[in-house]
Amino acid sequence: MTKYLFIVFLFVSINLQAQNKALSPRNANYDMDVQLNPETKIIDGKMKLKWINISPDTLTELQFHLYLNGFKNSESTFMKESGGSFRGDRAGEDKLSWGYINIKSMKIQGGENLTDKIQFISPDDGNKNDQTAISVPLKDSILPGDTINILINFESKLPKIFARTGFAGNYFLVGQWFPKIAVYEPVGMRGQKTGGWNCHQFHAHSEFYADFGVYNVKITLPKDYVVGATGKQLSETVKGNLKTVKYRAKDVIDFAWTASPRFKVVVDKWKEVQIKLLIQPEHADLAERHIISAKAALEYFDKHLGPYPYNTLTIVDPPITGAGSGGMEYPTFITAGSFAKMPAGIRLIEMVTIHEFGHQYFMGILASNEFEEAWMDEGMNSYFETRIMNKYYGKKTSFFNIAGIRIGDLEMQRNGYVYNKNRKIAESYRYAWHYQQGGYSTMSYNKPATFLNTLHRLVGNDLNDSIWKTYYKTWQFKHPSTRDFIATVNEVVTEHKGVDFAADINDFLVQAIYGSDVCDYKVSYVSSRWIHDPQGILDGIQIEEHSDSAKIYESRVVIKREGEMIMPVEVLIHFNNGKEITKYWDGKSRSTEFKFRSVAKVSWAKIDPENKILMDVNLANNSYVLRPNDKPAWKYTVKFLFWLQNIIQSIVWFV
Ligand SMILES: [Zn+2]
Repeated sequence: MTKYLFIVFLFVSINLQAQNKALSPRNANYDMDVQLNPETKIIDGKMKLKWINISPDTLTELQFHLYLNGFKNSESTFMKESGGSFRGDRAGEDKLSWGYINIKSMKIQGGENLTDKIQFISPDDGNKNDQTAISVPLKDSILPGDTINILINFESKLPKIFARTGFAGNYFLVGQWFPKIAVYEPVGMRGQKTGGWNCHQFHAHSEFYADFGVYNVKITLPKDYVVGATGKQLSETVKGNLKTVKYRAKDVIDFAWTASPRFKVVVDKWKEVQIKLLIQPEHADLAERHIISAKAALEYFDKHLGPYPYNTLTIVDPPITGAGSGGMEYPTFITAGSFAKMPAGIRLIEMVTIHEFGHQYFMGILASNEFEEAWMDEGMNSYFETRIMNKYYGKKTSFFNIAGIRIGDLEMQRNGYVYNKNRKIAESYRYAWHYQQGGYSTMSYNKPATFLNTLHRLVGNDLNDSIWKTYYKTWQFKHPSTRDFIATVNEVVTEHKGVDFAADINDFLVQAIYGSDVCDYKVSYVSSRWIHDPQGILDGIQIEEHSDSAKIYESRVVIKREGEMIMPVEVLIHFNNGKEITKYWDGKSRSTEFKFRSVAKVSWAKIDPENKILMDVNLANNSYVLRPNDKPAWKYTVKFLFWLQNIIQSIVWFV
């Protein structure tokens, strides 16, 4: 246990006594009172941030994110990286399209006025024109355990939606919209050697990182707007043409909300969780698909990872003009995506709803650093997405099932890795904005989904469940890092299967997460030849026992390692009398050979007969058929059929 964790635990226990069931350290708490003007697209806000120094360090500065400034002009790091487009949507060019956030005043309650001390910082790329992160030096230091209240007046101008947040006509999706304090990380918290603020600029390929707290938010806007937000709605009061809605969210790392006069509201319930779907009226017939898939996700995560600790879930269905805000996650609040009359066989609504819900666990509750270790959020979540989609919508049909074309979700994730040209240019463990040459989605989503499914098959269902449940229970509300996940896997696997097997699993994970090597094992050669009975002067020669009519064959099976990734492999060898032998190889050298002397000939050999190693990028070379004494035409037909079967298997996946 690090010093940092000790202090976190201390605060968790203090909170447990003082605030009744605090689940998290609650060191970044926001009270906000904001008003939206739908004409100017401006939010006027004031907030009080109650921040507690839960680190063992004395601090002389604060750092904040001002993400809406990523949309301020073409010179921001976000705009430069994304080229003004994101997921295919382009930034608008008229003035109303741009967004910004302006701190009008900032002071410590009962203390220093900080307004004139704000400095923009660009720790990631040195871009002096980027205004998405700030540092605020302090006259009086903040000691370990100190609480400060910071009063901020701010103005947030929402951009026209093209990436996640903003407006589209009178639809508003308000995310990353207020001054948000960064995470202070003491030495060793995620394995780093120096302590400091972990504050990153707003990037094209990166999401977020923040501390936990309680949010009390009052939103005022025209009374005909329907509102949805993170947490629970406490009240709604109307005054003239305006109304004020109050929300509270506990133990969350962020707060987002939406407003539109057009939403149709559908409410439902799963156990104690209130589900609220805000759907476009033209998509009303798709409401059930959102609700059913959300319930599937709630049920599956509850059973295989751990309980959902909140009692609300809001799902937003954006209009087509605001599609850039779809498929995004905030605590207890997700955006999905649909278009009118979407056929049931295109399971995009289900996939997006399940995926974004899954982020509640990895982004929201475990709350890993999405800037620096994106795979721990997107990748772990994509892995659970494949499991849930396959369970509820069929292994071979979970993503697409129309007119005889069938694609499973796991197959799609795996193909995204094995057939991607970027599969060797980067690692899954990499800062999200360091994928300039590509590979962000391959390495953050597809590859982790593939190696975590491989891990699952290597350890089996029960042990796999133990790993994930232990990981969740141990690390919820604590910002785990990659090394924490690997340590949990080691611990659980060692306990159940011993150190040798745990060491193999550890080697596999380390290569898969930190490396870019690919896995490819191949049966390169199989032969069987008749050994004539010994002839000549046979004094002192041992002759194998066999019936007079039987022949003895010597068979060879050669396995090669074509890729650089090393994994232990199983090889199933089938003889023409029906006998089968499974051989194990540590997979370390470039090749190995198995030799047999037997009355039967080898018919075929197959690597990884139970299809555990999804990481193997070429499944077509995993088997080899031998029929030496058959007529050549037949031989090639059989071989072709076997090869075809493997090709089909590698595309359609799994028998
Ligand atoms: Zn995601």
